Amino acid sequence: MKKKINRRLMFISSMAVVITFLSMAAVFYRIYQEQVLDDLRVYAYALSDGAAAGAAQDMTVAEKGSYGENGGSGGISDPVRVTVINPEGMVLYDSNADAGRMDNHADRPEIREAFECGEGSSIRQSSTMKKNTFYYTLLLQDGNVLRVAKEAHSIWSILYSSMPVIFLSVCALILLCMLVSHYLTGSLLAPIEKIAANMDNIEDNDIYEELVPFAETIRKQHETILHNASMRQEFSANVSHELKTPLTAISGYSELIGNGMASGDDVLRFADEIHKSANRLLTLIDDTIRLSELDVIDKNIPFEDIDLYEIAKDNVEMLQLRAEDRSVLLSVEGGSCPMKGDRQMIEELVYNLCDNAINYNNAGGTVTVSAQKEEGRPVLRVRDTGIGIPEEYQERIFERFYRVDKSRSKSTGGTGLGLAIVKHIVAVHHAEIFLNSKVGKGTEFKIVFAGASV
Ligand code: ADP
Repeated sequence: MKKKINRRLMFISSMAVVITFLSMAAVFYRIYQEQVLDDLRVYAYALSDGAAAGAAQDMTVAEKGSYGENGGSGGISDPVRVTVINPEGMVLYDSNADAGRMDNHADRPEIREAFECGEGSSIRQSSTMKKNTFYYTLLLQDGNVLRVAKEAHSIWSILYSSMPVIFLSVCALILLCMLVSHYLTGSLLAPIEKIAANMDNIEDNDIYEELVPFAETIRKQHETILHNASMRQEFSANVSHELKTPLTAISGYSELIGNGMASGDDVLRFADEIHKSANRLLTLIDDTIRLSELDVIDKNIPFEDIDLYEIAKDNVEMLQLRAEDRSVLLSVEGGSCPMKGDRQMIEELVYNLCDNAINYNNAGGTVTVSAQKEEGRPVLRVRDTGIGIPEEYQERIFERFYRVDKSRSKSTGGTGLGLAIVKHIVAVHHAEIFLNSKVGKGTEFKIVFAGASV
């Protein structure tokens, strides 16, 4: 980045130097041209007013041929060349050449201009690029035109002759630009480098106003990464801890049986405990694997056409026996509720919510599952008349392994991961979850899915 900014600054400043130089050269050359023409004008007026003009006028009345012979200066060129042309374009007098041999001048732009406007001028390139010829013409009182001409340097020759100076000054300027751009780049990037070096205390750095949102985003991402890392660490520690309990039980009971220390009914009881613990291990591992899968799942997986009501009904049928075991009345209400979603995930979601509603219920309580469209959006409700969730824990129950009453959860085979899985599935479906619960009265989980357009 530093190099790039440096290069661009260098490029811009070099361009600026060159463009400035060229425009200055153009302006100065223009002034120079005007100056030369001005000198010629003064000269022409002096000639027309003074003795020279008188001589020229005398000459114009004489024979054209004799001017040609007398007028020419025999090959030695004057720095200022004077020519007199009559209205027909014939050269009556020329200070540097034989007027008689000169061709008709009527079509020369400066001559035409003088006949039309009283005076004229033009600049023509000489045979070499180095010189330009400047012409100034003036209409005399007798109707002839007086032309004064002078050769002067062209812009190219001026540029050429001043090349060493130009080259040196451009080099010096570019060198200066290099130094300035190097310093500027350094001071421009210093605050950014400061942020990079001190990510944790961005506020302490004296940074650009425009960089504040950028720095904020980076800081938040930084925090999220740290948070996620610590969550993962915590999760691993929790998983190990959760696995340890049933494994310890299995190890202990099997050791007792193996040592022959259990007999008769005890063996049966211990075998049952081992069986329960093994099941618990399996559930824990299943839930942990499921959560890891959901963690990495693409948030834009393709959905299929499903019917929320049908899934709720099947689920209620499946859990009917368990509900009866706990003396809970489980029912479903609503009607056909087509939507887009992942069938397996929605089944898991309904199952987890119903399972909790049965497990955290009282004998004789009810669980009502409803699926229907509300304002065009599919809505699932799982309502129970169970123990309820104290308000202070309502936020936390979606955390992994969080349980309000650990022993009750364990006694019903809970892992503390069910609602974490529910939360994930809700997010994948771009849905919203609402919880309404009162201790001793019951709980309602409401999930509002996205409308048909999503
Ligand atoms: P668990 O496997 O322990 O049920 P969950 O993640 O499903 O884990 O639920 C987390 C905790 O939330 C439960 O331990 C329980 O304390 C509370 N909870 C969940 N659903 C209900 C409910 N319907 N009624 C009362 N408490 C509930």
